[in-house]
Formats: sequence, C-alpha cells, structure tokens
Amino acid sequence: MQEGGSQRLAETVAARIEKDIVSSGWSTGTVLGSERELIERYGVSRAVFREAVRLVEHHQMARMRRGPGGGLVVTEPDPGIVRDAARVYLRRAAVSRRQLFDARMALELAGVTAAAEKLTEPGIARLAESLATERDLIDRGVTLGHARNLHSVIAELAGNPALTLFVEVLAQLDQDMVQQEWESGEQSDEGLREGALRSHEAHEAIVEAIVGGDAALAQHRMRRHLQAIAALLDDEAADEQE
Ligand SMILES: [Zn+2]
Repeated sequence: MQEGGSQRLAETVAARIEKDIVSSGWSTGTVLGSERELIERYGVSRAVFREAVRLVEHHQMARMRRGPGGGLVVTEPDPGIVRDAARVYLRRAAVSRRQLFDARMALELAGVTAAAEKLTEPGIARLAESLATERDLIDRGVTLGHARNLHSVIAELAGNPALTLFVEVLAQLDQDMVQQEWESGEQSDEGLREGALRSHEAHEAIVEAIVGGDAALAQHRMRRHLQAIAALLDDEAADEQE
C-alpha cells in the first residue's frame, strides 16, 4: 500500500475509534481494549493501528497504556493545550488588536450577562476568592499573568464551555501583548502596577454588579474595563468604541 493510502486509512480508523469513545459516553479511564483486541476489531495492520492511535492521542481523546491491564484508555482533554494551540494560531494569523478587542468584548459581555443571571452561592464565593487572590498577588508585586483569572471565573460561571475557552484565549492574548510592551520597555514596572490596580478596582465593581444580579450594570462596567485595557495598549481601539 502507498504511503498516502495508509495515512488515510489511519485517519479513518482514528475517526472510528473517536466515534466509539463518544458513543461509549466518553468516560475517562475506560479501557477500550488491548492493542491486539483493537487491531482485530478495526481489522487493520499494526502499523496503521499505531498511526491511528497517534492521531487519537494527539486529539487527546485516549492514550495507549503499556503493561498489564493496559490498552487504549479514554482520557480527559487538557483545555490548557487547546488554549495554547488557539493562541498560537491567532498570533500566527496576525490577529490585530482591534479584532481581538471586538471579539473579546462580545464574548465577555455575553459572559457577565449569563453569570449575573445564573448566580449561585458557590459562584459568589468563587468570585470573592478570585478577587482576594488577585489583591494578594498585586500586594506581593505580581502585576502580570493573573489579571485574566477573574475573567475565567466569570466565564465559567456563565456555564458555557465555548465561552470559557475563548474568553481565556483572548484574555491571554491581551496579557501577552501587555507583557511584550513591558519586555520592549514601552511599559514601566510602575505603569504595570498602576494598570493592575486599576484592573483590580474594575474587577471589584464588575463582581459587585454580578452579585447584585444587575446584568446591565455588569455589562457597562465590563465594557469600560475592556476599553481601559485597550487604551493601555492602543488608544485607537478604545476611542473607536465610544
Ligand atoms: Zn480584567
């Protein structure tokens, strides 16, 4: 068989394995079968099967565990890897700050609205905890790398995994840009600290509105906060939004 043909066969087998994982309920830890059993089930050569497994592992749906009791085991996808891949992709696609700003605004406004509407007691506790952690980090001089955490919590409270994933990706890209400016000397340490404190105050105000169940106020405050971040990076994006 030609190289291309066996690759296509491996892709077909990988798709079948993934379909079987989904129809089995995607239960983490389930052993789908030993290598020998699966080669027989899917009716392919060992080489093709191994290539299929490599694809399934790459998609983070299962991995081959060696040794006794081993076999192809269903795994939990790691959202961190998905986020990093999306981040690399968007940087590679040369996403502009303006595009990033527009997309992030739409997602974050949807997030605060849903979070305010679906608020629960454990949700309130998580928001408070996130604010306290942020305050603690700023007091200890950590001004980069944590500012997106509150945004992640809000998105999680919205209960929509698609929203959570993309809010995190876009917030991280904003963070990357601030970091780049700092590394290139365009942002001073003092400027970063100022920015972190202002963001923290904005976060407190957003959380207050969410906890009060006031979705419109939460939206208004989130919009102002994102405009302030955009202004820190680029005056243009914030001005155009007014
Ligand atoms: Zn923020």
